[in-house]
Amino acid sequence: MTDARLLIDSQGRVLRDLRVSITDRCNFRCLYCLPETEAAQNFYRGHWAHLPNSAPIVPQWVPKAHLLSFEEIERVIRLAVSLGIQKVRLTGGEPLLRQNVEDLVARIAGIPGITDLAMTTNGFLFPPKASALRAAGLRRVSFSLDSLTGDNFRKITGREGLDEVLASIKLAQTLGLHPVKVNAVVIRGLNDHEIEALAGFAREHDLSLRFIEFMPLDSARAWLKEMVVPGHEVLARLLARFDLRPVAADHPSATAKRWSFPDGRGEIGIIAPVSEPFCGHCNRIRLTADGKIRTCLFSVTEHDLRSQLRAGASDEAISEWLKAVVWQKEARHHIGEPDFVPPPRSMSCIGG
Ligand code: SAM
Ligand code: SF4
Repeated sequence: MTDARLLIDSQGRVLRDLRVSITDRCNFRCLYCLPETEAAQNFYRGHWAHLPNSAPIVPQWVPKAHLLSFEEIERVIRLAVSLGIQKVRLTGGEPLLRQNVEDLVARIAGIPGITDLAMTTNGFLFPPKASALRAAGLRRVSFSLDSLTGDNFRKITGREGLDEVLASIKLAQTLGLHPVKVNAVVIRGLNDHEIEALAGFAREHDLSLRFIEFMPLDSARAWLKEMVVPGHEVLARLLARFDLRPVAADHPSATAKRWSFPDGRGEIGIIAPVSEPFCGHCNRIRLTADGKIRTCLFSVTEHDLRSQLRAGASDEAISEWLKAVVWQKEARHHIGEPDFVPPPRSMSCIGG
């Protein structure tokens, strides 16, 4: 029997995790997300002779009037929490570009029933906002950091900023936003030579460093399977260098396989959605900055919640609508299969 107060899909998965994108804009141009820089284009052209011929997505930035307001976002989260959502993560685009983001954090932190309120950021704009975010009730931050050298950082993100991001990570630790996680997307021929150095950095600074496989969500549609460094390869390299011990997963829906160092300082996570999909335990849905519900990162259909919010739908009607949408959640993704169709929007618009 299913519980009518929960968000449950047709596969029996109970949804607990809501990712909320609060802007599609970004101050970085990461090679795996918005590869608009010359360095990104040279990388793709230079390393791989046979780029896929599907047309690049030209990002269509969401018009301001279509962005959900803080009131609208808070309302959706309240309703989702009343239907069993427990974890909320703010993301983007770059969430720190949204003005007064700390006011939104305070609104969300005040919703009873949320056990985890986190943010994913590139970290560049974090320092001036950090204390306000902490005071508003943000509990955890994940930073993106794919390289430890200035040159490669610039090549990957499209801008100077390594020192700023390193300082932000340190500041988050000082403010007790524990555990501070760092996400590194590994791409063959780009930053795979830095795998051991990134793990050493995690150990030295007592961080949780998560290596993520490159997914076909870049706006250039330049992804090729050969560019993916499979999680098992990352792990083999790390085991050859470090004494790592497996850490039991907190929950079956955990995306990362975790490993710890013997003295307990620092942790490694391997997130392998391409080579070892975890769709069967996925308990996430996404709300885009323009108010669309996405039931999978790779959904080709989005469900328009904004128009309902703005047409005066009641809480009850929206809750019923959410339940019906979630029921349709995709069983799994089809990356790497002949029938794979990439989503029409790229990662910065979807919200990673
Ligand atoms: N701008 C913020 C940031 O970079 O942390 C938040 C949004 S970003 C889209 C969220 C996460 O998605 C980041 O950790 C980023 O590395 C990851 N990401 C972006 N494009 C990706 C791709 N094609 N494959 C795998 N991860 C990707
Ligand atoms: Fe911006 Fe994050 Fe995408 Fe990089 S990964 S371009 S920081 S949204």
